[in-house]
Amino acid sequence: MMSYFGLPIAKGIAHNKIYKIEDLLITFDESSASDVEKELEIFKNGRMGAIADVEKIYEKTLTTLGENEARIFEAHLSLLNDIELIGQVEAYIKDKSAHAAYAVSEVSKQLEAIFTSMDNEYMRERAADIKDITTRIIKHIKGVKTDNSVEEECIVVANDLTPSMTSSLDKNLVKGIITETGGKTSHSAIIANLLEIPYIVLDRCMSLINQGDTVVFDGTDGSVHVDPDEETVVEYRKRQEEYESLKSKYKELEGLPAATKDGEKVELMANIGNAEDMEFVVKSEAKSIGLFRTEFLFMDDEYPDEEKQFKIYKEVAEQLPEGYVTIRTIDIGGDKNSPHFDIAAEDNPFLGYRGIRLCLGEVEIFKAQLRAILRAGVYGSIKIMFPMIATIKEFMDAKELIEECKKELKRENIEYNDNIPVGIMVETPAAAIMADAFAKVVDFFSIGTNDLVQYTLAADRMNKQVSYMYSAYDPAVIRSIGMVAQAAKMNNIPVSICGESAADKTLLPVFVGLGIRHLSMSVSFIPEVKWALHLRTLEEAEEIKNEASVFYVKKDVEEYLKKVSEMLYI
Ligand code: PEP
Ligand code: MG
Repeated sequence: MMSYFGLPIAKGIAHNKIYKIEDLLITFDESSASDVEKELEIFKNGRMGAIADVEKIYEKTLTTLGENEARIFEAHLSLLNDIELIGQVEAYIKDKSAHAAYAVSEVSKQLEAIFTSMDNEYMRERAADIKDITTRIIKHIKGVKTDNSVEEECIVVANDLTPSMTSSLDKNLVKGIITETGGKTSHSAIIANLLEIPYIVLDRCMSLINQGDTVVFDGTDGSVHVDPDEETVVEYRKRQEEYESLKSKYKELEGLPAATKDGEKVELMANIGNAEDMEFVVKSEAKSIGLFRTEFLFMDDEYPDEEKQFKIYKEVAEQLPEGYVTIRTIDIGGDKNSPHFDIAAEDNPFLGYRGIRLCLGEVEIFKAQLRAILRAGVYGSIKIMFPMIATIKEFMDAKELIEECKKELKRENIEYNDNIPVGIMVETPAAAIMADAFAKVVDFFSIGTNDLVQYTLAADRMNKQVSYMYSAYDPAVIRSIGMVAQAAKMNNIPVSICGESAADKTLLPVFVGLGIRHLSMSVSFIPEVKWALHLRTLEEAEEIKNEASVFYVKKDVEEYLKKVSEMLYI
């Protein structure tokens, strides 16, 4: 048995024989073609064949998965009919007297390189869409089989899975997916999640796993075992049973409010990074967005000007008729870069020119964002949230800019919302310590535990060597959260948690016990957090919070919370 850890993409346990999809080694004729007209005709026929395939996949996806998912293939059809793309291939054939398949492959490589070099993960993954359609054209030209249909139950292992391959997989036969490349926001990942097929990305899986091997893996923690021994199989069978029974338990709560056993409501909201994520939010039980990380809009090469941002914020807000969107202003710096900001190399980027500091220095870009938000506020419920706030002065300066923007908009006769609540992320120890003062001037708090942990414990969130320090279970972090929750309560303002620990079911009773009534997380965690929430009364959560607060050592907190979680099979 060989064991590895991969990147978890879609939850669930898979245990089956491997079906390996080897990349087709297509060879290209690079010599000059004798008849250019004929090559143009061959390209046209290949493209028509690809269009016919994708039309079928579109119809199938429409009936099995629905309109939203089928849109991926609508986009593929547009690409296959794209005049630019067709023109580029035809020009390549004509200018270089190239064979059709070779021309398609070369143009595809150029386009893939453009998308792959983009900073934004979402755009990078669009390279997969280009590759998907061009490979399909090439296969038609070469007369190669275009479907990868499996005939028996298996785990599919591939270098990469194109969206059309993922969508055409038979859910009854494909019990798991392992690929060498891919990420959480690729279309294949999205489809696998919707089809509920466990999926992990495992580096070098094509060489680590052989055709016919048996593999067991867990899409929740990324653990994978090739040719597992009996003991491992038994353990993963148990995990699977637990996972299945949990899923059916989660389903029982669908439609009911998120609340403790005795009915104390806790709002579960969604974190998003772009407008596309709304597709999952509207399908989830989240009514509001607790964190919209807008800096992702600034990672593309194309600058999102006021107009573009206005449209995006408006589109998001309009999709939340019963709730609101908390728009966090640009949080560039630290580990997040943008071609639109000129940040000199820094020794300590996380302690440097980041978040609100950068925005207060780049007033024009910041004001364009504030204006876009104020304008979008006319069409839906919006809150503004500033990141990385350390001093009251920073908050006041940023708020002053909002007032300036309002005056400008008024002068220009442009509609805006005058009553948008303005709050801060509490993610620096300074903000937590001064929470009672901040609570007098802000409209709400949202605790960013990802940063609050790193700054409180002086442990870089990206540094593996100090990861043993980096923990939301540390008493210092729990006390900080308690101080912020208390200040919010005393001043009657809402407080939420929007860092990753908001979805930690083991910490949940502590948060509830501390008075947190709003949690914002990736939508995929909402059902399980809701389920864990309803297992205890408010009084029980408060007791657990009191017990956990007695410890001075992180390990003791962890052990205690783990023990009380396990008692309820959380
Ligand atoms: C946080 O710090 O907890 C947070 C939500 O912000 P980010 O992870 O984007 O820094
Ligand atoms: Mg942060």
